[in-house]
Order: sequence, then structure tokens, then C-alpha cells
Amino acid sequence: LCMNDAVAENRISVCVRKRPLSKKEVTRGEIEVVTIPNKDHIILHQPQVKVDLTKYLENQKFRFDYTFDENSTNELVYRFTAQPLVKTIFEQGTATCFAYGQTGSGKTHTMGGDFTGKKQNASMGIYALTARDVFRLVSSDYRRQHLTVHCSFFEIYGAKVYDLLANKAVLRVLEDGKSQVQVVGLKVMDVDSEQMVLELINQGAAVRTAGTTSANSNSSRSHAVFQIILRQGKKQWGKFSLIDLAGNERGQDTRDCDRETRLEGAEINKSLLALKECIRAMSNNNSHVPFRSSKLTLVLRDSFVGDKARTVMISMISPGLSSCEHSLNTLRYANRVKEL
Ligand code: ADP
Ligand code: MG
Repeated sequence: LCMNDAVAENRISVCVRKRPLSKKEVTRGEIEVVTIPNKDHIILHQPQVKVDLTKYLENQKFRFDYTFDENSTNELVYRFTAQPLVKTIFEQGTATCFAYGQTGSGKTHTMGGDFTGKKQNASMGIYALTARDVFRLVSSDYRRQHLTVHCSFFEIYGAKVYDLLANKAVLRVLEDGKSQVQVVGLKVMDVDSEQMVLELINQGAAVRTAGTTSANSNSSRSHAVFQIILRQGKKQWGKFSLIDLAGNERGQDTRDCDRETRLEGAEINKSLLALKECIRAMSNNNSHVPFRSSKLTLVLRDSFVGDKARTVMISMISPGLSSCEHSLNTLRYANRVKEL
């Protein structure tokens, strides 16, 4: 069984990606404390602090479905994470890919492509790579099913949902009697080429980061949800949700004196805990999935229920000593999501 098949078959897969040290980090003499010894392990070398006369803190070693080292490209990461799930949505299932990790660890780089340089390169991100494969399949293998492709892009900030394709219009989330969850008024665009999807990604990303300097619109504090929807006529056939989560350190910082930031942190913490519980319930075939515990999990309800739901989480790791504590938190969280 090759890894691709394993990811497609597992209801849950958890992978880790280590980014390289940035030029800035190298310049300031940042020390690397993360090693990927093979394709499914990661080692975090704790700083060698003497706890007492004899004891040193030990290295932490974790195993995941797949681990990607600093030389891995987005294309490679894609091939072992989201790509195996593309088939799922053509078979009337629900696929979900999460990017998890602290701010600066590479979530947006992985999902959206690189937006930080002078030239945007969305085509190399998992959003675009997924869209490319979806169009390939629509026009070849699944041609006779007459499926059409649609996209939506929204952000969850605090407990509110904003449409990134409609200038951050505030959207309401409703649950009907049959537990179907709807984001009311969400723009779902008809798309017929990878190029059109790229334009939507760029448009949404620009809206997301607009006014980044003002305190209440920082992309590291919101979850961004990009969805590729397949329809047959008016009926939804399958759905792929690709999520760039809020920085996980935002949920831990409760010492911040600013009340608004503290409330935000509490909300992020709540949603990431709820996410972990929902994914765990899914992997244990637990019939009680606590998806109502946060706006994030409520909106993603159909990602956690049903036989045809598949999820992959990519946990991003910054390799430097100064990120050591956050990296350990990230690895522990990922490890709890799926204990191997
Ligand atoms: P996050 O979204 O998790 O806050 P970003 O994706 O914005 O982090 O990444 C922070 C910086 O690191 C960006 O400048 C990005 O280009 C760079 N970066 C992240 N991952 C990689 C990688 N795998 N290779 C090269 N540069 C990366
Ligand atoms: Mg980001």
C-alpha cells in the first residue's frame, strides 16, 4: 500500500511539515531544534537545560502518518495530503484539509501559496493544486456525470463569519431540524478553470489581510475556509474544505492585558479544542460529535459525520529554538488528534 492510498483510506491522517529557517532567523543566529529523521517521525530537541544535578530534559519524539522536512515543496506535501482526498469528493464524499500551527510556521504558505513576496504565487498552494486536479477529473474520468465546480471563501473571526468573496459581509449560520448547517447568503461562485480559482484566491486573500495593522483584523487570529464544491444540477455532489487555521499560540496567550485580545484568544482556544474533539470522535467512530461547541466546528459539521468524510491535518512547525515551546504544543495537539 503506498502512502497515497493510506491517506485516502484513513478517515483521519495527521502529517507534520517543518519549514526551513528564514534568512532573518539565520542572520540572527537562530538554532534549529527540529529533526525529521525519516518519513514518519519528528524529533524536537529540547534545549539542554539542567533540571537538577543529574536530570536533563529529554528529546521528544513523535510519530505521524507522514512528516515533511524543510526541503519538501508544496507540491510534494500536496501529493501526500490533499491530493489523495480529491477522489473522495467525486465519490459523493466530504474532504477536509486543515493547516494547523503557530503564526509564522507556514500555514498560509502551504495552503494559499506564497503571498508575502513581491510576486504572489497562489498557483503553488494547496488551494490551487486541489482545484487543478478537480478540473482535470471533471473533464476526464467523471465527464459523464456532468458535474460543475463552485468555490466559496470565508473567514471565521471570533464567533462571526465573514464572506471573503463579498468584501467581508457578515454571514449568519443556521442549523435546521435535520442538523443541516447553512451559512446564509454565502457567495458560491461558478468556476470553470484553474485561472478563475486563482483569481478568487487572490481576491479573498487580499480582503483577508486588508487593514492588517488595525487590531481587529489580523489574519493570524482568524480561520480561513476555502471550499471547492461539486454539483450535479442543483444538487451538491461533494465538497472539499481547505482551512488555514488561526495561529494556535493565540489561544494560549491569556496573560495579555488587552481585554479584546484575551476574549479573542479564548474563542480561538475554544475552537481548536472543539476541532480536536470532533476529529477524535470521528476517528473513534463515536456517534456523538460535539460540533456545536464552536462556530468553526459547527460550520464544518458535514466534515465530521458520515461514512464518506475524510480529513487530513497538516501541522506546521517552525524549526527554531525560540519557537520550541510552541512547537511542542503543536506536536502534542497533533498527536492527540490521532494517536498512532
Ligand atoms: P503562517 O500562515 O503560519 O503564519 P506563513 O505561511 O505566512 O505562516 O509563513 C511565514 C513566512 O515563512 C513567510 O514569509 C513564508 O513565505 C515563509 N515560509 C513558510 N513556509 C515555508 C517553506 N516551507 N519554505 C519557504 N518559506 C516558507
Ligand atoms: Mg497565515
